[in-house]
Amino acid sequence: MSSKASNYFKFCPVCGGKLKVNQAHPTCIKCGFIFYQNSKPTSSAFLINAQGELMLVKRRVAPFRGYWDVPGGFLEEGEDPIVGLKRELYEELGVRLKNIALHGLYPDWYVDQYKLYTINIIYTAQIASGTLKPQDDISEYQWFTKKTIPWSRLAFSWIRPCLKDFFKN
Ligand SMILES: [Zn+2]
Repeated sequence: MSSKASNYFKFCPVCGGKLKVNQAHPTCIKCGFIFYQNSKPTSSAFLINAQGELMLVKRRVAPFRGYWDVPGGFLEEGEDPIVGLKRELYEELGVRLKNIALHGLYPDWYVDQYKLYTINIIYTAQIASGTLKPQDDISEYQWFTKKTIPWSRLAFSWIRPCLKDFFKN
């Protein structure tokens, strides 16, 4: 049975005391520490090529192994979303970016060890330099048009509305 993070954690990360859960925020009964939980921010991009095609990447890892995703990932603590985007795209694809513009923000959740809420920040961008080479948790990349998007094989739920918004413009 998976539960959201605030019902899943049992002990205080500060003193090891028991957390009182099932209230607005888990609170340590020993030291009073309030263990706030928030949605986790991710930063991703629709890479667009000279033909106007859009890149999706195939996931090598769970969740949604083998499904099509957008390149990007979780931000580090305190990291600027654009810095995080550049870092992720370099790690995953070996490319540097240009013409980065905000596309939108899409809330979502999925179940990993517990129910994990996300706020997905997505940009449009173009490749400035580098040689495209999938690394890390990506098995391949492919360029798509509106007609060839693999709608039934998309990874996280937020990607569908995000793509629909993109093609509306
Ligand atoms: Zn405590």
